[in-house]
Amino acid sequence: VTAWNLVSSPGSGKTTLLCATIAALRERAPQRPVAVIEGDQQTTHDADRIRATGAPAIQVNTGRGCHLDAPMVAAAFERLPQHESGGLLFIENVGNLVCPAMWDLGEAGKIAILSVTEGEDKPLKYPDMFAAARLMVLTKTDLLPHLDFDLPRCIDFARRVNPAIEVLLVSARTGVGMDAWLDWLQLEEAVPCA
Ligand code: MG
Ligand code: ZN
Repeated sequence: VTAWNLVSSPGSGKTTLLCATIAALRERAPQRPVAVIEGDQQTTHDADRIRATGAPAIQVNTGRGCHLDAPMVAAAFERLPQHESGGLLFIENVGNLVCPAMWDLGEAGKIAILSVTEGEDKPLKYPDMFAAARLMVLTKTDLLPHLDFDLPRCIDFARRVNPAIEVLLVSARTGVGMDAWLDWLQLEEAVPCA
């Protein structure tokens, strides 16, 4: 099973991106099992949204905790029906750009999600997260015409803290960028962890 650890601040659109990703993967690779482990302090809202797509999802509530750790993920993984079958696993971490950077969940890589409604200086403010990520996905890009978000500046800031970071622009709402995102997942899966 290949696992990706999605990290971001709350409200960046991780769950919306995952719902769109599951739907798109179903077209591209219908046989491939996809499952999600959802981390939030409280509620099962996000796991409910994922299950509505037809994919299995396990919600982990961290209570006062602010990140997922490997034992939490291992326990959730045991409860998923599909392990051992070479599937894809998305781990949606607790929305928090600080400490999830420091925890290895057994993932192939961390993917930092940053929405264009946030400040473009997030990579400088929270450098550890962007340094730990293989990819930065800029989400909600359909909103760019309505915002003052400085895209080149944001990418420059991300590359200052991580010269190797890759960047994709996606709107889960319109579907723009989704193909490139799926291509990235497919290609990077073959690349060993750094
Ligand atoms: Mg979410
Ligand atoms: Zn934490």
